[in-house]
This record gives sequence, C-alpha cells and structure tokens, in this order.
Amino acid sequence: MTNADVLVRVENIKKYFPISKGAFGRVTGYVRAVDGVTFDIRKGESFGLVGESGCGKTTTGRAILRLVELTAGRVFFDGQDLAQLDDVEMRKLRRRMQIVFQDPYSSLNPRMNVGAALVEPLTAHGIGTPAERLEKAKALLAQVGLRPFHLNRYPHEFSGGQRQRIVIARALSVDPEFIVCDEPVSALDVSIQSQILNLLKELQAKFGLTYLFVAHNLAVVRYISDRVGVMYLGKMVELADEREIYNHPVHPYTKALLAAVPGGDSGFERDKHILAGDVPSPANPPPGCSFHTRCPVARPDCKEVVPEWREIGPRHYVACHLAG
Ligand code: SF4
Repeated sequence: MTNADVLVRVENIKKYFPISKGAFGRVTGYVRAVDGVTFDIRKGESFGLVGESGCGKTTTGRAILRLVELTAGRVFFDGQDLAQLDDVEMRKLRRRMQIVFQDPYSSLNPRMNVGAALVEPLTAHGIGTPAERLEKAKALLAQVGLRPFHLNRYPHEFSGGQRQRIVIARALSVDPEFIVCDEPVSALDVSIQSQILNLLKELQAKFGLTYLFVAHNLAVVRYISDRVGVMYLGKMVELADEREIYNHPVHPYTKALLAAVPGGDSGFERDKHILAGDVPSPANPPPGCSFHTRCPVARPDCKEVVPEWREIGPRHYVACHLAG
C-alpha cells in the first residue's frame, strides 16, 4: 500500500476527558476514551471498528472528523494534517467528510421538512442555485430509494429506516469522499438493518465512497467491512482483513466477541472464550495488558507488561503476549 492509497491516517491518537470534582471543578483524573490508536483507511474501503460500548470506537470516529479535539496524536486526511488547518481550510475539508449517526430521528430537525433538510448543507457550502439545490434534493431522495413527494414531509411522518435513508441522503448532498457511519443501523429493526446496509454498499460502489463503520455488532461489521479493527478500553487490540479476523482471530478478546455472537459459527469452542466480568473503568485502566482482568488465558506477566503491537501475518496486527 502506498501513501496515495491512503485517505485517512490516524497516528497514535489519544482523547482523555477530564474528571472534575468540587465547586471549583478541580480536575481529579482523566477518562482515557482513546489511548494511542494508529491505523490507515484506504481510498474506497470500508474499515470496521468494533468493540463493547465504552471501548472508544465512537470517540475515535468523531476525533477523525475533529468533532472532538484530540489530547494527542495526529489525523491526516488525503495527506493533510488536520491540526495544521485553519478554520477556512477545515470548513472546505468538512465537505469531503461526513457522518451518519445512530439515531436518525435526533439527526433531523423535527420542524424542517425533508426538502429543507437536504438543501441546507448545499446552501451552507454555497453549492448551486436554489433551483439546482432543489433538483439535487430530488435526485438524492431517488438515490436512497425515496420519492419526490417526500420532500414536503416531516421526519415524524417516516419510519426509522426511511429516516436513516434521509440522513444518508443529507450526508451525500455535498458529494463527500469519506463517511463515518456511527452505529447507523443499531437503532433500527433487524428487518430494516440489511436494507440500510445494502444501501450503504450500493452507494459506496456508485460513488467510490470510503467508510469508517463503527458498530458493536460483529455480524453487521462483517457484512460491510473490508478490514476490521477491534478496540478494548481505548486501544486497538487486533486489526486484519475481514476474512482473516473472522476466520483466524488471535487476540483472546476478539475470540470472546466472536464466541458471543448469538447463533454465530465462530469455529471454536464457545465456553473457552466466555468473557468474565465487566469492562474496567477507562478512568482507571488495569496496568500491563488492559484485558488481563478478563482474559481466560492471562499469564502472570500480563499484569505488568504492556503487549507490543505486532504484525503476525500479512496485514494482521495484534497486541497480545501470546500472539504468534
Ligand atoms: Fe490475555 Fe495476556 Fe494476551 Fe492480554 S497479553 S490478551 S492478558 S494473554
């Protein structure tokens, strides 16, 4: 892979949220939501980011878009270091990067009809004349499987799946190259989820989009992703091509996640990979390997020594003392 193939490069990013106490808001500690994560997203691929809630996957997606400011590390978009851009440059770049949130209802203004919701980003970026914007809004609706008469309807008049289609159309309105899909189907009925996933795949093929797909559901991530990164307590613990990670998981946490998929055929004995206990607090992560408190195969040194991030096979990376 060359630099020209990479659209997004995330370099050792950290996001610590301060914990304040008392009347004077004294900072007493930090929640380490993202704690040193590095990966690339290639042009035209779907990169899945998976893990339990609180693992830092959503914060990672938002940090890439600069919706939260980083504590440390750098994010490059098409070779540009986002931290070096001024407000005008960042505003121009924002058009190329969009996000689809989990809850389509709260993503849409209930007092704005669909036509206005689709035209608004075009107006904000100074794209087209009013007549051209309206034509574009109609075309966007058709691309996501809705009809022109829907332009005059309001969000509450649609089902959850239709609302997510509108949110996707709105994200597409400014012709982005990169979309962060933040749990885009987890608020939808199971029967609707595959329709939205298929729509995202179709749009990706049609427009050459690049996705960061954030989700806790491994089956959903598998369906849409070319490569998958697994996060635990703010760190990436395993990263590989989709087939590799689902057929040959190496990290005990990845194995446990796969074993926990209901009805899934993870190819190994389920009871050996049951996850014990809850995720520790990211304000006070365990020393050594942060997974050692729940790991069924932890060794004594796992409590003290942080495992290295190593390539154990072609494009297969893992952070575990036992790997390889
Ligand atoms: Fe388990 Fe040790 Fe590997 Fe961490 S380093 S995942 S505790 S075996």
